[in-house]
Amino acid sequence: MEKSDIIDSIACCGLICRLCHLAGDCDGCRNTASKCSNHSDHWGGCYQRKCCRGRGIKGCWECGDFPCDKEMFDVTTHDLKIRACVRCIKEDGPERFVEYVLGNEKNGIRYGFRKDYDGLGSEEEVLRLLRIGKKNQ
Ligand code: SF4
Ligand code: SF4
Ligand code: SF4
Repeated sequence: MEKSDIIDSIACCGLICRLCHLAGDCDGCRNTASKCSNHSDHWGGCYQRKCCRGRGIKGCWECGDFPCDKEMFDVTTHDLKIRACVRCIKEDGPERFVEYVLGNEKNGIRYGFRKDYDGLGSEEEVLRLLRIGKKNQ
């Protein structure tokens, strides 16, 4: 899989569609056959996707109002990893973000649903794991 394809597959909310556990059966956030629709009423209704489209931006990392605390960025309903990943993309760029994730995978740090970036205590911890491949001591 080409790194550029992985970068291009970053969803509006910062998830990496090409590395998603449903990727084999889903065309990704930017396409009409998105599987997010099967998880909830997301298709056509995903706040981040609609909002980014409405603002004419590729993803929430390009938004001056990020983090807006809506839907995917509501830490009472979603893991804070999602916000942290968008922060990472905003601060370091999509290419560096994907390089962190791929580099960490080689060292056994797994990206994905309920994997190593989930369940951490703070956005800073997720950022630290992304950037230097280590959890807080
Ligand atoms: S939650 Fe929304 S923005 Fe994120 S991948 Fe699914 S459809 Fe795209
Ligand atoms: S299920 Fe959602 S996050 Fe996963 S590949 Fe499809 S659109 Fe992307
Ligand atoms: S307000 Fe900004 S950060 Fe929130 S969903 Fe819309 S584009 Fe994304």
